[in-house]
Amino acid sequence: MTEIVSEIDSYLKRLFPICRSITGPGNRESLKILKEIVPLEIKEYPSGTSVYDWEIPDEWIIRDAWIKDSHGRKIVDFQDSNVHLVSYSEPLNREMTFVALKDHLYYLGNLPEAIPYRTSYYKKNWGFCVTGAQYKFLEQADEPFKVFIDSEFRPDGSLSVGELLIPGETEEEILLSTYICHPSMANDNLSGMVMTAFLARELLKHIPTKYGYRIVWVPETIGAIAYCSYNETSMIKIKQGFIVTCVGGPGKFGYKQSYERSHTINTVIEESFRINGIDDFIIYPFDIHGSDERQYSSQGFRINVASISKDKYYEYPYYHTSLDDLSFIGAENITQSLELYFDVLKRLNELNNGPVYRRREPHCEAMLSKYDLYPATGGAVLPKSIITELDLRLWLLFLCDGEQPLYVIARRLNIPVSQLEREAKLLEQKGLLLPT
Ligand code: ZN
Repeated sequence: MTEIVSEIDSYLKRLFPICRSITGPGNRESLKILKEIVPLEIKEYPSGTSVYDWEIPDEWIIRDAWIKDSHGRKIVDFQDSNVHLVSYSEPLNREMTFVALKDHLYYLGNLPEAIPYRTSYYKKNWGFCVTGAQYKFLEQADEPFKVFIDSEFRPDGSLSVGELLIPGETEEEILLSTYICHPSMANDNLSGMVMTAFLARELLKHIPTKYGYRIVWVPETIGAIAYCSYNETSMIKIKQGFIVTCVGGPGKFGYKQSYERSHTINTVIEESFRINGIDDFIIYPFDIHGSDERQYSSQGFRINVASISKDKYYEYPYYHTSLDDLSFIGAENITQSLELYFDVLKRLNELNNGPVYRRREPHCEAMLSKYDLYPATGGAVLPKSIITELDLRLWLLFLCDGEQPLYVIARRLNIPVSQLEREAKLLEQKGLLLPT
């Protein structure tokens, strides 16, 4: 496992400085790097394409941006941190006073050492995000300021997404979706992009499983909407899904429930937490604010989508600031999240594996001695704490109702499913159970 930690770490370091947004060369470059880990396919959806109620925007290209004081000193520089520029800022080359500039400056009064993260995707605008100290400096510096943004909007551009389809034994799929649109911020969501690639690599080593996997790296919201629009018919195959985000923080594990609280995906995540010794996890009930589950769980798709996190978005003080950097997260944390995700996926695959049985004659008990399935002498046997063969038979005959898969019964009895399978086969041979 040490090896994977250092591998993850090296990818974090390479990918962190790249300026990503909802479109642009930074996204393509990031996907190309992730392609070294798994053979994902990079797809391009052209700008101007209608996707449901939305339209894929012009591609945004950013080369440089800065603010200089009247002495030519750079006070704010995009090259120091790409979080300094409001994402999708329009091009600009203008002299201005502080009064004119200040409406385009963003800083955090409650966290002055941080640069906040801001976007203006759908309204043409521009802006700079600065620390409290930079804001104060600008307030007192000599005017006029020179403000320069070397950006470009390309109507002939496109939105890039990464996709990897891993076939399963059945047509049914599990969706893993992560987003690639944030500039240099580590937990939200570089950790998710990278973990998804490494998880995909692990899944490829263990195929085939019952479910296939549809794994996508998309810009949040517009990317997920575009993906759904381009793949509407294939999405019917998806039985459940995950948004992989914020998986590298130092805090507690938690998970955001899918929209149906009682859905298997939520039960299995909790089971996996407990079995892996994580009892102190946080449950975030489904909420209408969030990530791309808003698209995947919309009426047209209604996929139950959950999200396992380690310092969930909205919940940590560095969220959406430059302080969500590589020193905040850790490759070890991402590896832990990866192992947990892998375990959950394994459990989901096992869940409906194997036959589902029902009683041939469901009324009252079967007379086991008639089938040579009951101890010769009855009467004196007390139920034992260790589950016996007879107990297994009785439980199977009691629980096999044509609905509950053997895995669910095994979980209830706290025994391996293989033990139940042997006994179920015997009861089938005796004509007491029928596979459905
Ligand atoms: Zn975010």
